[in-house]
Amino acid sequence: MSEGHHEAPSVSGGNFIENIIAEDLRTQKHQGKIQTRFPPEPNGYLHIGHARSVCLNFGIAQTYKGGLCNLRFDDTNPEKEDIEYQNSIMEDIRWLGFDWGERLFHASDYYEKFFQFAVELIRKGLAYVCDLSAERIRETRGTLTESGSHSPYRDRTVDENLLLFNQMREGHFRDGEKVLRAKIDMSSGNINMRDPVIYRIKKVRHHRTGNAWCIYPMYDFAHCLSDYLEGITHSLCTLEFQDHRPLYDWFIQNLVPEPHPRQYEFARLNLNYTVTSKRKLKQLVDERHVRGWDDPRLPTICGLRRRGYTPSAIRTFCERLGVSKKETVIDMGVLEDCLRDDLNATAKRAMCVLNPLKVTITNYPEGQTEEFNVRNHPKDDAMGRRSLAFSRQILIERDDFLDDPPAGYHRLAPGREVRLRYGYVIRCDEVVRDEDGEALELKCTYDPDTGNGKKPVGRQVKGIIHWVSAGKSLPLEIRLYDRLFNVPFPTAEEKEGRDFREHLNPSSLLSLHKCRGEWALKDALPGQIFQFERLGYFCIDSDSSDEEHLIFNRSVTLRDTWQQENSAP
Ligand code: ATP
Ligand code: MG
Repeated sequence: MSEGHHEAPSVSGGNFIENIIAEDLRTQKHQGKIQTRFPPEPNGYLHIGHARSVCLNFGIAQTYKGGLCNLRFDDTNPEKEDIEYQNSIMEDIRWLGFDWGERLFHASDYYEKFFQFAVELIRKGLAYVCDLSAERIRETRGTLTESGSHSPYRDRTVDENLLLFNQMREGHFRDGEKVLRAKIDMSSGNINMRDPVIYRIKKVRHHRTGNAWCIYPMYDFAHCLSDYLEGITHSLCTLEFQDHRPLYDWFIQNLVPEPHPRQYEFARLNLNYTVTSKRKLKQLVDERHVRGWDDPRLPTICGLRRRGYTPSAIRTFCERLGVSKKETVIDMGVLEDCLRDDLNATAKRAMCVLNPLKVTITNYPEGQTEEFNVRNHPKDDAMGRRSLAFSRQILIERDDFLDDPPAGYHRLAPGREVRLRYGYVIRCDEVVRDEDGEALELKCTYDPDTGNGKKPVGRQVKGIIHWVSAGKSLPLEIRLYDRLFNVPFPTAEEKEGRDFREHLNPSSLLSLHKCRGEWALKDALPGQIFQFERLGYFCIDSDSSDEEHLIFNRSVTLRDTWQQENSAP
């Protein structure tokens, strides 16, 4: 599936961020400049929540003339970070249709500058080296209703602080023995302002700077300064950073001249029946609850890609949601709908039988075959045609036959007629059964006058079923996916000590090994997506070895049957 460059997102009415930008442009706040950044921490793979931030930040840069968006790896936590993650993040952003051009940055590139900024805070009497343990710092920080208490090291002289901070850098102390703290206000109503730690000792190798550093800056210190160093105008982050904004502004105001970057917060994207937290996703991967970061059941970008999601479906999803300040949970069905809308227009049609039941057309001569020439897409002739083999022996879906059909059932049953899609009308004359009475084979007759969609004479046939030729069809493995969790909010009970993994859906993956697909599928390309008529949209899985063993993933069903089947009676 070819993916062109993303068109500028449609700006309608203006969400709160667009309104802020419009006002800033009017007042020339940043001299008319608009520059955003997407700042992932390379400690896991991107998920659908990140896609929203990617679309928002890169989308803004595309919307406004001269707009820029940086990709910045926020790599200040060496223990959890890895080059594998960094590469996957770049691949996923490109795949989503965005391009940072030359604008690739790493917070670790600024380590020396951060250090000098910290020295400047010390010189201004705004930072001090503290010997309290992490635990003591927590205990003396106070609570929402009580002030914190001053560290006994708070009044160290500038010279002493400079000496100790340099010694921290040079490796004189053990991990945790000392930290550098900002000297702000231990009685602030905002706990983030109570002398937060800005540097800690970690004698850990960093994936980019190696062993050059044994002290690493904290997120709050590094992030705002990175924004400043890169000339970011609008620093967009999720709501949990709202209470950190005063600290963001405090560092910026005390350290750098105007123009200052500004932080704005928007609501995270939450999806039901899944988890969107890198830490939890990593747990599922590491503990092998799923088959890897790109397991098609995961909401990771690579998982969605393998499942058959298209970049445009994901972008549409993010655009439909817009941005707001209100936390909401989006139904998984909304994401699926975006994919259906996209694929309905672009996916070639094909037929495949998941659970085959043999049908012999007794009045069709042995050895005879014919080829129906059919369209690949009902509405789009440009998608071409293919040929569909018909023969005496065909396979239909076991579900399309019932011994004792209820009223309103229009498919096959003893004595009943049905139309084969693109083919003839057949009638079931006889059922061959095994010793348990299960149907093994149907003996049918066809009406030769009903080819090419011609109506049967003197009677009405309502049902149409899909089928494949028994001989000229391909064996396929098909993987059907269901929700990864069997409750909408798997993490909701964490406070009561219940683990989200207790809610994993044991039947989230169903592998079917006896499927048969029509012959044309042998030419299917990796990544190509088909609509298997009546069954949904399917794409080839990367586990497929060759045309002898093709594996298809069901990307999404044709309609949202899941909602109906799972809503409470
Ligand atoms: P996670 O909680 O999954 O670990 P994170 O926020 O720690 O996510 P980062 O790599 O720091 O992951 O995120 C990069 C950017 O993506 C940040 O600006 C963050 O605010 C944004 N982001 C992360 N999760 C979401 C989400 N669910 N919805 C919207 N934006 C998100
Ligand atoms: Mg984060």
